[in-house]
Formats: sequence, C-alpha cells, structure tokens
Amino acid sequence: MTQVSLETISNLAKKRGFVFQSSEIYGGLRSAYDYGPLGVELLRNVKDQWWRAMVQERDDIVGLDSAILQAREVWRASGHEEVFTDPLVECRNCNARHRLDKLDDPDVCPNCGMRGTFTEARNFNLMFRTHMGPVEDDENLVYLRPETAQGIFINFENIRRTNRLKLPFGVAQIGKSFRNEITPGQFVFRTREFEQMEMEYFCRPGEAEAWFEYWVEQRMSWYTGLGIDPAHLRLRHHGEEELSHYSAMTADVDYLFPWGWDELEGIANRTDFDLRQHQEHSGEDLRYYDPDTEERIFPYVIEPAAGATRTTFAFLIDAYHTETVHDETRVVLRLDHRLAPYKVAVLPLSKKEELIEPAQRIAAELRRRWMVELDTTQSIGRRYRRQDEIGTPYAVTVDFESLDDHAVTVRDRDTMSQDRVSMDRLVEHLEKKLA
Ligand code: ATP
Repeated sequence: MTQVSLETISNLAKKRGFVFQSSEIYGGLRSAYDYGPLGVELLRNVKDQWWRAMVQERDDIVGLDSAILQAREVWRASGHEEVFTDPLVECRNCNARHRLDKLDDPDVCPNCGMRGTFTEARNFNLMFRTHMGPVEDDENLVYLRPETAQGIFINFENIRRTNRLKLPFGVAQIGKSFRNEITPGQFVFRTREFEQMEMEYFCRPGEAEAWFEYWVEQRMSWYTGLGIDPAHLRLRHHGEEELSHYSAMTADVDYLFPWGWDELEGIANRTDFDLRQHQEHSGEDLRYYDPDTEERIFPYVIEPAAGATRTTFAFLIDAYHTETVHDETRVVLRLDHRLAPYKVAVLPLSKKEELIEPAQRIAAELRRRWMVELDTTQSIGRRYRRQDEIGTPYAVTVDFESLDDHAVTVRDRDTMSQDRVSMDRLVEHLEKKLA
C-alpha cells in the first residue's frame, strides 16, 4: 500500500490550498472540486507535461480544443446515447443507490449492510443533459461531453486536410468532461466534472496492434519519468466482458491508491468504430485516401485516455513522504520539479526592511522564469516546513550576511543541504538545478 491515507492527503490538499470542495460555503457539492492557487499550478504542470510529451516533442501528433457542446447526433453515432450507461441498483431498506459493477458483494448494501434488498439493476445513462436555446424540448436537447475523444473524430477530416497529415498521425486534446456518476467519491478520484487528456492515434489497420503496444509502453514511462514509483503502477488488460462498446482491446494503467489498485488511464484499440459510425450518420466521407496504394481506408485508432485531475491526484499521493528530522516529523512532497507548483521560495530571514528589499528584488528577477513564492511570515523553520509540504524544490534565504557578502543560501527540499550562492550567479545556479 502507498503510505499515505486518503484522509491525510485530502486534508493536506485542503489545508494548503490545492483543492476545495465546489460551493463549499453552501455546504459543498460532493462531486465537483475547485483547484486553489497551488492546485491550479500542479494541474497545469501535469497537463503541460502531457502536452509536451504528446504534441510538442513529436512530429506526428497535433493538438485540438473542441467544443464541449456538440450536436446530439455525435452521441447517437458514437453509441453513447444508447449504451454509455452504468448498472444502477437501489437498496429497498435504506434507499442508497449504488453502481452494481463496483460493489464488493453484489447482494449486500455497503450502506446499511442488508443482504438481498437491491432492486433490479437498471441502465443509467451517465451523460448530463441540457438544452440549447430558450426552448426546453427534445429537439433542443444536447449533452455535456462525457469524453473529449468525439471532438477529435468529428474533426478528423478537417485536421487531416488542413495539416496535410499522413498515416500514422495523432490528435491530442485536453479538456473538461462530465459524467453523472452514480457514486462519485474518493476525493477528486471520481467526480462528475473532471478533466481528461486524450489522444487518438490513427494508423493502418494492420499496424494497430503494434501501435497499441507502443503506446502502452510510452504511457507507462511517462508516469515513472515524472516520479511515480514503478511499484505503484501496473498494467491490467480488460477481459472480453469488460470491453467498452467501441474497443477491440483495452489495457488500464492502474495506480496503487490508498484504497487499492484503481484506474489512472485506459489505452484502447477503438478500431475504425468511430469513423465508420460518423460517416454513416453524417453522410460525409471520412475515409483516408492512401496515395501509396490509391485506396480509401478507415484508419484504426489507438487511444491513450487519461484523467488530468485523477492523474494530478496520483502525483500528489505518490509525492507524499514523512521522515523524522531532529526528533520532529517532516512532511515533504517530493514532486518532480517540473510538477511542483512553486519552483523557488524566497525567504528573508527577518521582516526588517533591509532584508525585505533585496528579497523582493530577487523574487522579481526569478519570477521572470519560474513560479516563485516570497514568504515573509513566521519563523524560518516554519516557512521551510510549509515549502516542504507544498513541494517547493528550492528555498532561497536572504540573511543579514547577504548584505555584506551579496550571497544567499539555497536549500534543497529533498536533501535539506544548503549552498551559499552569490546573488549574481543565483539564476544560473537555479537554472542548472531546474533544467
Ligand atoms: P471507470 O470505469 O472508473 O468509471 P472509465 O473506464 O469509464 O472509468 P474512461 O472512459 O476510460 O474511464 O476514461 C478515461 C480516463 O478519464 C479514466 O482513466 C480516468 O482517469 C478519467 N475519468 C473517467 N471518469 C472520471 C471521473 N468520473 N472522474 C475523474 N476522472 C475520470
């Protein structure tokens, strides 16, 4: 098991301003969350790292940002209107509702403990419904997207044509998705509004299996490359009965959460299901013209689909460490520096103007490159503890000696070692460390 409990990590997230419950002052909306000043940085850094790996560093993948509201026909064609459902049961004794496929024992209500009290399971569609325009009738019904992927499929031809793309190529997208989950929970793990990072990789049908293996490997190493302990990751292949309606093969990247193994990302071979469906429903030719064979084909699609918010949560959990230093417990988030909300903290030793002024000057200079926190409150020990707890890799202390030697102390979060660095070489010093 990972060392930190769900309670400890969610308390830290709230206490330090990573995550707040949505509408908290009105009692809280249990299934949506707001990312506070630190959380928004962490989440953005996770998304930036994904974008960098999936788009920036590659010559075969381009990006997209499609609308959340799409024509209802999109969700008819994709099959979501009909089959994007979870089995819902209700307990006749306590009226609690559960998702049948997630229960430990399908006959026992985890809320009241009674056996055999469930109603017949019914398929509950997870899509949020709303209406376009002032008239709330069936004609104007639209859904909030439950996945970002369909925005990519319906733009397949636009993107291919305008960017002169040849197979194999991918389209990546990060954005909000909405699912009216029966049982949201485990903090930000399962929410009704969340963010996804999805990429559709279009390839020749005969090459789909090889690309599937390739993407499984790439995605696993993305997590470990950003600091997730490999012992906390596993790959789990779906059995036949578990596959989504569009998938020929799926493997989940699971993470060892405080409650056990659970999904971080699904990698699926969606075959040509979506393009075929959209061609049939829209009447547009969505086949790919292969200049080599002079044939029109439906490409196959390999999709690595990760949750941005869920992944951010896993990075937070995995970074959490405690250790004893001088008989005191130190909590430290060992976040990879690329993910840390602040890269540097600037801490004047005292509140005296003669130290505040150079500290402000240093902070202003460093802010041109990185997210920096200037903290002038409390004792230096407490300020170090705060920075450790929010994962800031380096703390720069300005002390009275700095006024004479024009140098500052740079403290390393992980080793707690301190280097004396001349002020005019500080940027260069940190650039090397944060490279
Ligand atoms: P589950 O079986 O847990 O409901 P899923 O297999 O339906 O999830 P996918 O459709 O494969 O999930 O979605 C891809 C990714 O999007 C998931 O791996 C997860 O990281 C993220 N995700 C899906 N649903 C939610 C949610 N309700 N809250 C947060 N993230 C989610």
